[in-house]
Amino acid sequence: MSHPIIHTTGICKSFGDHQALAPLDLEVGSGQIVGLLGPNGAGKTTLLRMLTGITKPDEGTLRMWGQPHHRDLLSRMGYLPEERGLYKSMRVAEQVLYFAALRGMERRDAEHELRGWLERLEVEGWWNREVADLSKGMAQKIQFIATVLHRPELLILDEPFSGLDPINAALVRGEMLRLVQKEGTTLLLSTHDMGSVEALCDDVVMLHQGNKVLAGATDEVRESARKGRIFLRLRGNMMAFAAELGARAELLSKVTEGEGSAAVHEVELALPDAWPMPGFLQWAVGHVEVLEARPVKLSMEDVFVQTVASASS
Ligand code: ATP
Repeated sequence: MSHPIIHTTGICKSFGDHQALAPLDLEVGSGQIVGLLGPNGAGKTTLLRMLTGITKPDEGTLRMWGQPHHRDLLSRMGYLPEERGLYKSMRVAEQVLYFAALRGMERRDAEHELRGWLERLEVEGWWNREVADLSKGMAQKIQFIATVLHRPELLILDEPFSGLDPINAALVRGEMLRLVQKEGTTLLLSTHDMGSVEALCDDVVMLHQGNKVLAGATDEVRESARKGRIFLRLRGNMMAFAAELGARAELLSKVTEGEGSAAVHEVELALPDAWPMPGFLQWAVGHVEVLEARPVKLSMEDVFVQTVASASS
């Protein structure tokens, strides 16, 4: 059986008496795209820095490709750090090829790869451009290329979309998917861009104040966070309906259009586990005219806000 690419048990990190990361178990399998989420200061960068060997966990076990962390594994990883590190005095190609050489790439191979990447990211003309002249988003694209050029098996990306406009973010997302699908690359990315999480990530792990507060398949996490939420458009006596509902289900929101008996109400309800949607609808049609009913689908942003709120309360 093949080993997971990343396997941690109980790794943790404190700075002074501040625990940046509580003991964490994490497993990332080959070819997976995992999103690391969490509010500012949650511990995401701290975790990524341990996975890339920059800092050591205080305790716990960290295995990469089934082995304890050691320097030789670094060439199998690509790390896009939070703080960007391009040298302003260099030119684009010179800069990227310098990083490639540090990772042991042959010059001709690196040049060939770089040409392909500049083309795919639609910046063919940038070979000789001075890094100092690049905008934030442009520098971000070059830093991304520098991270992936040596064809790492594992990509660890800290805020890879920051500074990118929506078109460039989509371009970079497309390239990430290509790497995973065509090259079997594994991807762990820390991001606040929930749209990208929905578009890319098979799984998510969410940290809050150093604790893992949510983990699982992206779809399942969204489904379970929904917690019986249902949208209804209805006509009828809303007051009587709400009174009948009583404490059996929670009325989360209500918008009314029109007046009197013609009024149409749009409501969102949270049904308890013991009252699944089909049974509820059977009950509801006995009280009001149901014009539309559907389960509410939560966005990853909703899940994020809801999880942080309940973890903070
Ligand atoms: P953001 O989304 O803002 O990038 P993050 O989830 O990456 O946040 P971390 O950078 O991991 O958060 O920080 C977690 C906590 O650890 C914060 O409270 C931070 O102040 C603290 N911390 C991180 N690095 C250090 C350090 N070198 N020395 C002292 N405290 C640190």
